[in-house]
Amino acid sequence: MTSSDQVSKELGSADSALTPAQQETLGLIRLPADQRTTYEATLRHELHAALEAATADLVGSIDEPLWISKRQLQAVNGCEALYEAQQAEPFEWRIPMTRGQIFHKCVELSIHLFPKRTASELVDEALSSMMNRGDGLADFLFTLTEVERAEIRSDVASLLQTFFDTFPPLKKAWGPTTELPRKVVLHQGKVVFQGRFDLTIGQPSELTAGRVLVELKTGRAVPHHLDDLRFYALLETLVVGVPPALLASFYVDAGRVQVEHVDEDTVRSALRRASDAAERLLHLRLEKTRAAVRPNTSCRWCPIANQCEPGQAWLEEANDGSAW
Ligand code: SF4
Repeated sequence: MTSSDQVSKELGSADSALTPAQQETLGLIRLPADQRTTYEATLRHELHAALEAATADLVGSIDEPLWISKRQLQAVNGCEALYEAQQAEPFEWRIPMTRGQIFHKCVELSIHLFPKRTASELVDEALSSMMNRGDGLADFLFTLTEVERAEIRSDVASLLQTFFDTFPPLKKAWGPTTELPRKVVLHQGKVVFQGRFDLTIGQPSELTAGRVLVELKTGRAVPHHLDDLRFYALLETLVVGVPPALLASFYVDAGRVQVEHVDEDTVRSALRRASDAAERLLHLRLEKTRAAVRPNTSCRWCPIANQCEPGQAWLEEANDGSAW
């Protein structure tokens, strides 16, 4: 029996200790071995060559490497003026961002710490580990008051308990990983695509798909979540050579998962989106084009909204109640 058969068997085995929500999630993120796609060994090189060809004419003119993650891809498909404003302003931690970071750390620790901890214990372990890292997030956490840290603890512990009640317990035999990094280097490092997967389960077997990519969402569902996951499917294919079997967005507070099956069309469509975005980002970097101004819900928190006429017009209409 191959390791992916073992994972499939374990994922598929009935577990009477599971809650109905856990059973439902498990049923949706499990793809039986006989439904998994086998791909050509040449796919990885073919996609890599296509991605390089899309940017070949422009990379010679840039001095600093262009790093592209899901954030940059969203930006060029949203308001480019906002993207440029964000590039110009230094990154600052804010309390809502810390909740997601601590939550992800808790999930990681829940897989690797024995004996098992309660949600509150995991939050304490995660917070103390993160505050000892000596990075920007640690500095930010130290600046908070005791009350603010207690509120974060409480919020994350509640989210984590919902996660444990609705997501099937992660067994070691499934080969779960957290924060799995993927990096694709083009043109000797002039263009780098990168991502970090929240949670993966399973693995490919030679050329047959088997890995499930799960993004753990602590906020509301938005349409670009699926685009983000398709981009990750592309990264996975370019690095490993085999696309993932399934893409899943798990909305923690609702305890619900949205799943998409992956095939070659999924990966090729992600490739087109990534190539177009890379080309556009290079044009912006080289000032061969002006940033497009595209009002959308981001106008509500955009740092340059006060100086942006289209953004102000959109906000007035939205505050009128007439926007969708
Ligand atoms: S206010 Fe809206 S349209 Fe203007 S730059 Fe910001 S996000 Fe773009």
